[in-house]
Amino acid sequence: MSYFVDENGYYGDFGGAFIPEMLYPNVKELGEQYLKVMSDPSFIEEFEALLKDYVGRPTPLYFAKRLSEKYQTNIYLKREDLNHTGAHKINNTIGQILMAQRLGKKRIIAETGAGQHGVATATVCALMGLECIVYMGEIDIARQAPNVARMKMLGATVIPALSGSRTLKDATNEAIRDWINNPVDTHYIIGSVVGPHPYPDMVARFQSVISEEIKIQLLEKEGRSNPDYVIACVGGGSNAAGAFYHYLDEESVKLIAVEAAGKGVDSGESAATSILGEEGIIHGSKTLLMQTKDGQIIEPYSISAGLDYPGVGPLHAHLCKTKRAEFIAVTDDEAMKAGLELCRLEGVIPAIESSHALAIFNVKKFKKEDIVVLNLSGRGDKDLNTYINYFGFE
Ligand SMILES: *Cc1c(COP(=O)(O)O)cnc(C)c1O
Repeated sequence: MSYFVDENGYYGDFGGAFIPEMLYPNVKELGEQYLKVMSDPSFIEEFEALLKDYVGRPTPLYFAKRLSEKYQTNIYLKREDLNHTGAHKINNTIGQILMAQRLGKKRIIAETGAGQHGVATATVCALMGLECIVYMGEIDIARQAPNVARMKMLGATVIPALSGSRTLKDATNEAIRDWINNPVDTHYIIGSVVGPHPYPDMVARFQSVISEEIKIQLLEKEGRSNPDYVIACVGGGSNAAGAFYHYLDEESVKLIAVEAAGKGVDSGESAATSILGEEGIIHGSKTLLMQTKDGQIIEPYSISAGLDYPGVGPLHAHLCKTKRAEFIAVTDDEAMKAGLELCRLEGVIPAIESSHALAIFNVKKFKKEDIVVLNLSGRGDKDLNTYINYFGFE
């Protein structure tokens, strides 16, 4: 059994490239070039230098002493929250901007929901002096004003998607339309391990620096590079893909993916794709997604904007189906409580996405001798208003 992509772009039954014919040339060019580019020593050198000096890597692997005492196990936090721009997303956008340059592209497009990927894309475009156009649903623009302002400060053009529900999927449609109309000079930066092949594999490889570092850091601290568990939250699945990547073939390392149950899996307001989803096609790949009987996408819900996605990347659909990873869904309330607990026990304010992963400790019991690595995907500054409204601090 392989957990890595095959030459046709599949993870078991999932993946592929289901795209309009007009996109074939763009996706084909990327599919033919990405591995060549990524293995070029000058690419590797530039990627690693930017991760170090611009992003601030390696991020610490921090032993959370008080949290460990509370849950009677050994908990390490992989501190992706300390990256420049506050989350793991920058690992991927740095990789893709270098890819775009190597492919001779002058113009960058992206879609964004909550605005986090839009900000990470606008950041690397400013860094490289490339034109940046971000498509965003009109409703999301209104909901996420601070991130819209960030993108504009960074020099990006934010174009509202006015069709459909005016949220992420409509922004994605607009970005695809743009790419069809500008096939030669434009690169489309997708923000998670989703989309047509080769995106899921390319993004997972850029994010795999997370588990590459965990292996080295855990060896230094514990004398072994493999923990008993690796835990990460899953929206599209990129931070989890990065944290799992170098452990996929290490069957002794148990993998746990935490999804957003929203107000409860059966409440009708949820984003627990692995439980509620069925096989179908979304954003150009075959995977699990939340859909009606006649194949219409069901609007997901989570208190966390980054987990509010109706699908999951094809790698995760495969990990779920083969049971290589255990998928657990936690509610808004469980996540918010766990987020506040990390603030009080460790002095770290987590992104609400990451708080979902932290809620695992109230759902699952670990052994006293277990070594548990939890990927803390981002910091909570962007979520302060949601925390304040929820807990009513004044
Ligand atoms: C976007 C985001 C996520 C969810 O995206 P994945 O692709 O599933 O990693 C999780 N955490 C943070 C902090 C994010 O910004």
